[in-house]
Amino acid sequence: MINLTDELKCTGCAGCAAACPTGAITMEFGREGFLVPVISRDACISCKKCLSVCPVEHFPQRVEPLVYGARAKDEEILRLSSSGGVFSLLARLTLERAGTVCGAGFDADFSVVHKFVDKAEDIPQLTGSKYVQSRIGDSFKRIREELDLGRQVMFVGTPCQCAGLKAFLGKEYKNLLVVDFVCHGVPSPKHYKKYLQEISGGKEIAKVNFRCKLKDSGGYEMGLDFADSTVYRSKVAKDPYMMAFAQDISLRASCYGCFSKDLHSVADLTLGDFWGIDETNSPLAEKPGVSLVLINTERGKAAFDSISSSLETDCRKLEEAVKKNPCLCASVKKNPLREKFLRDMDRLEINKLTEKYCGSSYAAKLRRLIAKLRAR
Ligand SMILES: Cc1cc2nc3c(=O)[nH]c(=O)nc-3n(C[C@H](O)[C@H](O)[C@H](O)COP(=O)(O)OP(=O)(O)OC[C@H]3O[C@@H](n4cnc5c(N)ncnc54)[C@H](O)[C@@H]3O)c2cc1C
Ligand code: SF4
Ligand code: SF4
Ligand code: SF4
Repeated sequence: MINLTDELKCTGCAGCAAACPTGAITMEFGREGFLVPVISRDACISCKKCLSVCPVEHFPQRVEPLVYGARAKDEEILRLSSSGGVFSLLARLTLERAGTVCGAGFDADFSVVHKFVDKAEDIPQLTGSKYVQSRIGDSFKRIREELDLGRQVMFVGTPCQCAGLKAFLGKEYKNLLVVDFVCHGVPSPKHYKKYLQEISGGKEIAKVNFRCKLKDSGGYEMGLDFADSTVYRSKVAKDPYMMAFAQDISLRASCYGCFSKDLHSVADLTLGDFWGIDETNSPLAEKPGVSLVLINTERGKAAFDSISSSLETDCRKLEEAVKKNPCLCASVKKNPLREKFLRDMDRLEINKLTEKYCGSSYAAKLRRLIAKLRAR
């Protein structure tokens, strides 16, 4: 039987599962709560198709992008989006061309999954960053079917999911627009589920928003809305889930050595936050929530040009974009307590877990210091 990519490098992009001709690969949750490919010995015919599409084995070329700051003119789009609303305008463009948009949304129990949207009024189902790894499911196969029918398709995902999709497709489609984003890394879906269960305290959840925009300041907070009309809001620096994300303790192992860094992308466009634009002479410098747009291909340029009348835009230098956005160029450093944190996740309740590993108590700080010294 075939050996797939090393589990520590596997991004969980699900390209191999989509490509396997015998259905021998299923994506299953591993101990740390991430989806990993599992091969059925009986069904495998050793054809190596899975290895041929794995982006870890054949990682993308470096791109030389055009760099823009951009911000939607429409206030409602801005309010719903994480950043400057470029995604929503691209999605609208695709739907105006009778296409379909595949991106990350929520399913009935607020797990984050890739889904398809065909109507403009459903675009908000996909808007907004979800700071957890989304489940690709059967999306790649459906995308191929739509493309073969000649339909326009826009796919948005992490750089590794985009690389998995392109490798799975194995050929260029003129009717496909691929959009990735600057990626800090994805936390464990198991940690996210535990957080939802414990913070909700059994109340029915009506909405999850990882980036509730704060009026005027440009900052954001974590938010859960409940069916009984009560809400939970927390500053990112105080919320147990976001504290773990920010301290790089809950991410997938592959995110600490990600192949997409330093502009290795298969996407036509790469989106991000233009942090640091306020320190430039850009006309957008005074405005909150400006998106970074990296135009990587001709197709990306044509799509961006088509939405630019709905945007305020400014062409900038790459150095300005990189200055305050280190994840563009390098993977985050692994928190030396990561494995202990993910093991303890099964036995400690969320607030105790967070205080132990990410908190500000003397014991927590000492634990971090010792781990840091040992890791040297
Ligand atoms: C896990 C994660 C880490 C990020 N890290 C950074 C960073 O370090 N630096 C930076 O500049 N930007 C980062 N971003 C991107 C940023 O948060 C915005 O999504 C981006 O600026 C686009 O903003 P927008 O307003 O145009 O679109 P939005 O309205 O925010 O739409 C975002 C699009 O991304 C897709 N998406 C959301 N969550 C996920 C997910 N979990 N998996 C796959 N696709 C998803 C949605 O389907 C949607 O299509 C990250 C996003 C995510 C999800
Ligand atoms: S070698 Fe072929 S049959 Fe076996 S898991 Fe890989 S793709 Fe499937
Ligand atoms: S194709 Fe994706 S999911 Fe499969 S082994 Fe490679 S990185 Fe992992
Ligand atoms: S950091 Fe890299 S490996 Fe991790 S989710 Fe993002 S693109 Fe994938």
